[in-house]
Amino acid sequence: MINAQPHASHFVNGVPLEDANGAALPVIYPATGDTIAELHAATPAVIEAALFAAEAAQAEWAAMSGTERGRILRRAADLLRRRNQALSEIETLDTGKPIQETLVADATSAADALEYFGGLAGSLTGEHIQLPGGDFAYTRREALGVCVGIGAWNYPIQIAAWKSAPALACGNTMVFKPSETTPLSALKLAEIFFEAGLPPGVFNVVQGYGDVGAALVTDPRVAKVSLTGSVPTGKKVYAAAAAQMKHATMELGGKSPLVIFDDADLESAVSAAINANFYSTGQVCSNGTRVFVQAGIHDAFVKRLSDRMQNARLGDPMDPETTIGPMVSARQREIVEGFIAKGKDEGATLVAGGTIPDLPGFFITPALFTGVTDDMTIARDEIFGPVMSVLRFETEDEALRRANDTEFGLAAGVFTRDLARAHRMVAGFEAGTCWINTYNLTPVEMPFGGAKMSGIGRENSRAAIEHYSQLKSVYVAMNPTEAPF
Ligand code: NAD
Repeated sequence: MINAQPHASHFVNGVPLEDANGAALPVIYPATGDTIAELHAATPAVIEAALFAAEAAQAEWAAMSGTERGRILRRAADLLRRRNQALSEIETLDTGKPIQETLVADATSAADALEYFGGLAGSLTGEHIQLPGGDFAYTRREALGVCVGIGAWNYPIQIAAWKSAPALACGNTMVFKPSETTPLSALKLAEIFFEAGLPPGVFNVVQGYGDVGAALVTDPRVAKVSLTGSVPTGKKVYAAAAAQMKHATMELGGKSPLVIFDDADLESAVSAAINANFYSTGQVCSNGTRVFVQAGIHDAFVKRLSDRMQNARLGDPMDPETTIGPMVSARQREIVEGFIAKGKDEGATLVAGGTIPDLPGFFITPALFTGVTDDMTIARDEIFGPVMSVLRFETEDEALRRANDTEFGLAAGVFTRDLARAHRMVAGFEAGTCWINTYNLTPVEMPFGGAKMSGIGRENSRAAIEHYSQLKSVYVAMNPTEAPF
C-alpha cells in the first residue's frame, strides 16, 4: 500500500501545522482507489494562524529589495528542478496523471514561474512623470498585501506556483488553499520555499473544502484573491471579493474551439486535437473540445484520428509508457459518463472510446464523437474529461461565428497554411489565449487567461505583475503653493 502521508496537513508561518479537529480530507490514488494519506481541513484556528502569519510577515518581505526576493524564488526553482522526479511522483499519486506528463509539465512549470518572476522581481519600478514648472510626479509600484490563492485539482503545483511566484515577487504574502482533491504538492512547494530562504509567514498552505476557501476570501485582511476553478465557483468568489472591493483574478472553465481548415497539415492537426482533448485525461481548462473540421478534410481527419487513438496506452500512471491515466476521482468519471450518455441520446455518433476498461481506479477510454451539432449538451457544457466533439463546417465566416457561440472564452486554436486567414481568425476569436497551428502551449513568458465567463485577469508574463501590485501616484511640487484667498 502506498503511503504519501505528509508531516502535517497545513504549512503555516514556516512550519507544518496539524489540527485533527478539522474535517477528514482523505487523499485517494485515482489509479487504484486506495487512500494514500489522511489530512484534515483547516479549522478556524488554522485559518486564523495562517492569515495572522501572512499579515505579520508582509511589511518586512515587501521592504526587502526585489533582487533579494527574486534570489529566494530562483533558489526555490533550482530545488524544484533538482527534486523533479520525487515531486512528479507525488503529483501522479495525487492526480493520477501519467508520470511521462508530470515529469515535464508540473514541477518544471512551477520552476519556470519562479525563475521568471524571480528574475523580474528586481526590475519592478514605478515611473517618473515630468510636469510644467519643474513639478513632477512619480509612481510607486506597491504590493497589495495578503493574497489568497485557491487551486483546482488538475495542475496542483503549477497552479500554486503560477499564483505565488508573481505575488511574492511583488512583495505580497500568500495563503494558498489547494483543491481538496489534490492537497499534497503545495505542501512540498511550501517546504522548498522555506529551504530556499523564504521568511516564515510569506507563503502558507491551508487545506480544506469550499468553506475554507470562502472563509479566506471574505476575511478583511485579504487584499486579493486568485482562483483557479469552475465558473460557478468563480461567480461566488468574485462576488465575495467585490463586496469588499478586493482585487481578483479568475482562471475559470472553458469550452474552447479548435478550427481545422481543409489546407491544414493533417498529421499536425490530428496531433493537436489529441493534445487538446486527451492530455491529462482531458482535465485541462483550455482544452479545445469543440473541434470544427472543414468539410473537405473532415472524413480523412476522423479516420486518421480514430486510427491514432488506438495507440493510446491506458494503465499504471507510474509506468513511463502510459499515456492516459485515470480521471481524478470516481465522481469526475461519473460526470463524464453522464455526458457521454447524453451525447448518444442527443444523436451524436460515438466513433471510439467512452467505455470503462477492466482496470482498477477511475479509468475511462478517450471518447470521440462525430456528427455533433452546436446545440448538443456535449458541445455546450464543459465536460472536463477525455471527450472530443467533432463538428463539420463549410466556410470561414461560419466557423468563426460558431466558434464564438459560447458563454466561455478561455482559449481557441486554428489550423491552416493560409497565414492571412490564421490571423483573421485569431483576431475574431472571443478568447483570452489563442494558438495558430498548435494547441495548449502555455510558456510562462506568454500571458494566460480568459475572456467572457472564463475569467478576468492574466497569469504568467509581465501582465501578471499588474494583477499583484498597485500604483501609488505622488505629485511633487517644486514651487510655492497658491490659494484663491
Ligand atoms: P471547483 O470550482 O470545484 O473548485 C476550485 C477550488 O475552489 C477548490 O479549491 C475548491 O475547494 C474551491 N472552492 C469551492 N467553493 C468555494 C467557495 N465558495 N469559495 C472559495 N473557494 C471555493 O473546480 P475544480 O473542480 O477543482 O476544477 C475544475 C475547474 O477548474 C474546471 O472548470 C476547469 O476548467 C477549471 N480550471 C481553470 C483553469 C484556468 O487556468 N483557467 C485551470 C485549471 C482548471
